Amino acid sequence: MAITQMMKYEADRDADFARWATSQTGGENLRHCIQCGVCSATCPLSLYMDYTPRRLINLAREGFKNEVLSSLTIWLCASCYACRVECPKKIQVTDIMYALKRRAIQEGVYPKRFPIPVLAKEFGRMIFMWGRVNETLLVIDLFLRTNWFKFLSMTGLGLNLMRTGRMSFLPDSIRRKDELRKILNALEADKTEVAK
Ligand code: SF4
Ligand code: SF4
Repeated sequence: MAITQMMKYEADRDADFARWATSQTGGENLRHCIQCGVCSATCPLSLYMDYTPRRLINLAREGFKNEVLSSLTIWLCASCYACRVECPKKIQVTDIMYALKRRAIQEGVYPKRFPIPVLAKEFGRMIFMWGRVNETLLVIDLFLRTNWFKFLSMTGLGLNLMRTGRMSFLPDSIRRKDELRKILNALEADKTEVAK
């Protein structure tokens, strides 16, 4: 990575974001991170990340909001918890990754054509609407938003699956969806309150 990309300036810090990051579940002891790099060395995916877990933790606690929320790192994290197990300071890196993903979706700053955030957002929307996920609609939405050519190349397969009853456009819905929505809304309100 070029040195200019590694340099960070005090003026780019967002103190509110730093406060928010350390107030999240799992982020309470972010300040205890000693930057040892064990998490990065343990992570099976750090090789592919734009910021290693160690760097991401440092950027988050210092308030470099743009870098953190628009990074691929939070979307590449596979939630394997290896970093959490090995961290000498018991920093809950995985939980922090989840909090950052939620915030990136809320602020709409995730990489728009990268499949994982698109999938996560649509998954959440379907659960809120119907209480279940319709895999056909999920996959179609994913390809339409991220890779049109792939969508076109799979049309034949999709039609065959529909003909044999293996795929359906009809959303499968749970009963008492309103109650589920109330729970999800209450959780969302609770998270917002904690973040204040
Ligand atoms: S292993 Fe823990 S203490 Fe070390 S850099 Fe990672 S989060 Fe920080
Ligand atoms: S939980 Fe995420 S950041 Fe931690 S080791 Fe696994 S993939 Fe890497």
